[in-house]
Formats: sequence, structure tokens, C-alpha cells
Amino acid sequence: MKSNVPEIFGSMVFNDAIMREKLPKDVYRSLKKTIEDGRDLDIAVANVVAIAMKDWAIEKGATHFTHWFQPMTGVTAEKHDSFISPQNDGRVIMEFSGKELIKGEPDASSFPSGGLRATFEARGYTAWDPTSYAFVKDDVLCIPTAFCSYGGEALDKKTPLLRSMETLSEQAVRILRLFGNKEVKRVVTTVGPEQEYFLVDRALYQKRKDLIYCGRTLFGARAPKGQELDDHYFGAIKPRVQAYMKELNEELWKLGILSKTEHNEAAPAQHEMAPIYDTANIAIDHNQITMEVMKKVAKRHDLVCLLHEKPFDGVNGSGKHNNWSMVTDQGVNLLEPGKSPYENVQFLLFVVAIIKAVDEYQDLLRLSIASAGNDHRLGAAEAPPAIMSVYLGDDLEAILKSIESGMSYSGHGTSKMDIGVHVLPKLPKDTTDRNRTSPFAFTGNKFEFRSCGSSMSVSGPNTILNTIVAEELRIFADELSEAGEEEFTDALYDLIRKTIREHKRIIFNGDGYSRDWEREAEKRGLLNLPTTVDALPMYLESKNIELFKRHRIFTEIEVRSRYEIELEAYSKLIHIEGLTAVDMTKKEILPAVNKYILQLAECARIKEQLNTGGNRTGEKKTYPSVLESELIFLLSELEDKAYIHANRLEEMLNEATGLEREGEDKLKIAVFYKDQIIPTMQELRVCIDTMESNTSRECWPLPSYGELLFSI
Ligand code: ADP
Ligand code: MG
Repeated sequence: MKSNVPEIFGSMVFNDAIMREKLPKDVYRSLKKTIEDGRDLDIAVANVVAIAMKDWAIEKGATHFTHWFQPMTGVTAEKHDSFISPQNDGRVIMEFSGKELIKGEPDASSFPSGGLRATFEARGYTAWDPTSYAFVKDDVLCIPTAFCSYGGEALDKKTPLLRSMETLSEQAVRILRLFGNKEVKRVVTTVGPEQEYFLVDRALYQKRKDLIYCGRTLFGARAPKGQELDDHYFGAIKPRVQAYMKELNEELWKLGILSKTEHNEAAPAQHEMAPIYDTANIAIDHNQITMEVMKKVAKRHDLVCLLHEKPFDGVNGSGKHNNWSMVTDQGVNLLEPGKSPYENVQFLLFVVAIIKAVDEYQDLLRLSIASAGNDHRLGAAEAPPAIMSVYLGDDLEAILKSIESGMSYSGHGTSKMDIGVHVLPKLPKDTTDRNRTSPFAFTGNKFEFRSCGSSMSVSGPNTILNTIVAEELRIFADELSEAGEEEFTDALYDLIRKTIREHKRIIFNGDGYSRDWEREAEKRGLLNLPTTVDALPMYLESKNIELFKRHRIFTEIEVRSRYEIELEAYSKLIHIEGLTAVDMTKKEILPAVNKYILQLAECARIKEQLNTGGNRTGEKKTYPSVLESELIFLLSELEDKAYIHANRLEEMLNEATGLEREGEDKLKIAVFYKDQIIPTMQELRVCIDTMESNTSRECWPLPSYGELLFSI
């Protein structure tokens, strides 16, 4: 079937064009103004918008509406309410008011709040984010909202993101004013998240409890072939995957999501979808929907979409490259090197602010991408290391060096690089992804934060990014405003030079996977926080709490609540993995191996009979059974070991539950999971995987890595 893309694009979205068409002129204008200035919506206006929205949604098949929000679980939440309103005569009409549009009050007491709601109010409320369009999904009108407690504390991932966009805008505008820009009113952050995922066959998936409960394989011997031939990356897309991608694109387009690029990734069965970038909060809403739609469409193709950061050992895991920039309301990308010397200095000032931000807040960036799943990737020579650094590319690095030293810049034929006088040489865009090992890379007109995990909401990383850059811009603006008009250029030059000098340790253009870099980074005094449990306590550093407070991103209470929620999420997740590992070992794997041992024993017994009984002619032959006896021995030994590890794991999980019940410190519990439970799971895995390699395919109860990765 041919699809008419422009026609289906955004067909399920109550977007600007629809608003203009459906709303009276004055209402439309008033709504637009609210959206642009970020002000509260007048209830009279909201009432008119609500009716138009409802009528439109009903035309699209909607019967219900929901305030769609992003609680701290990292997935989206929705509670459906139907439009029906009973009449006196026993009939119903479809109703939707401005009040219902603007504010919702879900009884959301089961969402994690880190104690926030216990302290304030049991209920939270959701508030419409009118900058993100409403849409119809599965016959439900979804209204993108932020979720807060009655005390105003953020209970979700969107509220702090919106706050951080606000503060970044404010500080960036201050800088632009100093450069003489009187028109600019706002600066928005833009985000383009590249989403990686795996597709596996649904029938195989259903035979694996680890995939069902944990989204990743807890066991699995390596297949003879992995990704060593690099034959999957950008390879021809198989028909079944192609059909999936086609439908995925159409579903995303209907929802106004700018799905643009699709290709195979490094690992077998791994793929990527990249959208065209958008304003941060919208791009992130869209990414949340994308992940949901990816899973839903997979079902219709008898596939399962795995978004976990590390579904399979031994092949690459999945990330989400977060492309990030800042653009003015006049459409100027502030990370695009300009055409005039003056624009160049402005560009360089923003770049060094970012460099300083990454250096001073390595800890926050690191914790913003921390999760149990992502721990498997970072530093595993397949994703950037846990150490934060900035990659600038050779040209930009050379320029900064020449500014720092006051020496001449010799790249690309330019002689002395005197900012404020010379035009920057054209910087090549990194279209080849040439340094995939850097966590934070400049790619021509944006930075790419590559450490984000595939399953996570990128609200957190962008909130941190916006906030730390806003902070540096604030400091810069303060400092530069003190200089008089005459000295401005000198002050600028000094500031840029000083910043490079003080923060160049964070710049690294080499191989981030190498051991050498780990040592070098240590020498430079950079932070290395290998796991989530190492990273999360950084939330509580006083410099970080002060930062959040200063920019009104989080109150201290909010920071502490997030810290606790994330620690708890980590522990809970490992707990589920531990339980699943025990369950699979005892209920499926050990009984299966015993069955195979029985087969081997039966075979050995028959051979033994032949040896003692002789054959029909009475001729004596010896039937060797080395195979049987050695395998029986090996497997029995491994079975016992596995059994012991599984029991120990079970005991530890009970111990952890005990600690939780006693109200033990959450960090202590998380450390217990990291230091005791994860290594035990790993020991168990080694036994199980060795058994798999030595057990008949027929007896092994789980689909193998080979089948999972190569069957589509
Ligand atoms: P690649 O990384 O494969 O070389 P691109 O650099 O073209 O490809 O884009 C990767 C992602 O970066 C896309 O999602 C794209 O929309 C996004 N992107 C491009 N420009 C910007 C920008 N100014 N701000 C945020 N994201 C951007
Ligand atoms: Mg990229």
C-alpha cells in the first residue's frame, strides 16, 4: 500500500494548523500567546479550546481523554476518563471542560515520590504543558502534562526539564544582550535523540523468563558468531524488519513525530531510529511515545522490541545519543560557528561555557545517565566510559589551543587566530561519527551526549545539561557585565582564555575505550564513577544542591527525594533480576540438565550392557563411554555449583528484603546489591552458560543466543 506521508503526518495531533482551523481567531491568538510566553491559560479560553479539542478527538475516534505524564518510574502514565456525561433522560453526552484540560487530579499515590507526598499531600495534580501538542493514541485524547504535588514539588521528569529550559533561556539571553542583540526574547534547547533497539522473535521471547521479567538475558552462552565481522552495521535491512520499520514510521508520523533515519546497528538484530530534532520538551515527549509505539508495532509483527541497555552479553548494548543545542527565537543556532568574527566569539563563548559546565559538573552528568541497565554498557568498550570528557574534533581543539596560548593557529591556511578579528575556519561536521568513544562530542553545530541509555527518559540528562550550562552562562554574564563597553572585547578574550586554561583537562579527543585514558583521566583529576551506586550520592554534594536551588530546578527536598527514588529503583531492579535468575535455574535449567544427564546415563548403561552381554554372535566388543561419563561428571559438578550459587543468591535476596524492612539506609542496600548480589549472579551465570555449551540443544529449555540474534 502506498502511503501519502504529508497527508498522514500529524493526522492524530491537535497541532497548530488544526488549532488555527478549529478555534475562533481571538481564542487562537490568546492560546498562542500563552504558549509563546509560557503564561497561565485563562479559563474562558481553556473552555473554548477544550470543546474544540474534544470534537476533533471524537472525530479521530477518541472516547476518552487522559493527562499524559512522566512520573519518576521513567515510563509514561495515563489514566483514562471518558467524555461521557449523564443527562436527566438516561442518555449521555460527550463533555470536556477547560478545567479538565488545564488540570487533572489523578490519584497517583502509588507513583514513587521519595517521601514527598507523605510530607505534603497525598494527591498530586497534573498541569497541561500547552507547548506540547495533544494527540490521539488508541482512541484516547492524550494531553501532555507536568505532574506536581500540592506543595508544588515536582513528582515527574517534565517539571524540572521545563524549569531548566527556562533558566537556560534567561541566562543565554543575558549573554546575547551583552553582544548587542536587543531583539532576542527566548532561547530554546533543541534535542534529537537517536534511539537504538533490538528486535527478537516473539515466540522465542516468550520462552525466556529473563526477557519477560527483566528485558535482558540473564544467561546465554555466546553464539559462534557475534558482531565481529561488522556485517550488520548499516547492512541491508531484512524484509521482516523492513515491514516493521515501515509501520513504525507511519505510526510515528501520524503522531507528528519526525522519524527520519533508520538503519541496522552494530549488533545483530540491533537497529536505530533517529528523528529530526525538536524543542527539548517536545522531543522528549516524542521519544517517550516512540518507545511505546516501537513496542506496540513489534507485537503486530510477532516481534518484541527490546529497549534494555544490554539485552545480550558479548554484543553491543543500546544507547540513546542525545544531540543537543540552543537556538534563539530568531532561529539562530548558538552552536553554529558564525560567518563574522563577532559571531565567532559568541560561538566560542558558548562552547567554553559548555566545556566549563562539563568539567565542573562531571558528577551530575554522570549521575544523569546512571541506571542499573546502563551500568552494563558504560566503560565496557562499546559505549563511552563512565568518565566524562568533551570531544571537540581536531580543528576546534586547535583553535582553542591557539587562543589559550596566544599563538597563531595554523590549521586550514589561517594564520594567527585572533578572535574578534579573524573569521573562524569552517568546521567540518562530524557526519561519520568518527569518535564514538567520547561521552560528549561536538559534532559541527551541536553536542552529542552519547552516554544515555536506550530505555531511559532523556529528561534527566537534558535537565542537568541545561542547568549546568545556564549556571556557567550566569557566571559569564555577571563577569562580562562588569566590563565597560570599551573593555568588552578584552574582557571576552580574557574570559575565554582563562576558561580554556582552567578547564582544558576535560577535553579529550583520543580513544575513550583505552585503559590509558583511564589512567590519564585519573592524572587529570577527572571523576571516574563506574556504577550507578557510585554516581547517585553526588546528588547530595552541597555544590550541586546549591546549583539546583539557585536555578529553581529542585528544592533540597526534591533533590533528596530523587536520590532516594533512583537508589530504590536500582535495588528493586536487581532484586527482580536475582529472583528471576534463581527461578530459571531451579525450575527450568537444573531439571533440564538432569534430563540430559539421564539420557547420557541411559546411553552409558546400554553400552555397559553390550560390553557385559556381548552381541548376537558372541563376539566381544568394547563400547567406550568416555563421552557420557565425562559429560555426566562435568554437568553434575556444574549443577551442584549452580545450585549452591542459586541458594546463596536466594539467601542474599532475603537478606536484602530484611534490610529494606528494617528501614536500612537506601545507599547501604544498593551497595549490598552491587557488591554482593550482582557478583553472585555473575558466578551463577558462568556455571549456567558452561552447562548450556555442554548440553544437547534438544534438552536446553531456553532459546539460544544464536536463535535470538539471528532468526529474523
Ligand atoms: P549523525 O549523528 O548520524 O551524523 P546528524 O548529525 O545529522 O546525524 O543528526 C543526528 C541527530 O542530531 C538527528 O536526530 C538530528 O535531528 C539531530 N540534530 C541535528 N542538529 C541538531 C541541533 N541543532 N540540535 C539538536 N539536535 C540536532
Ligand atoms: Mg549521531
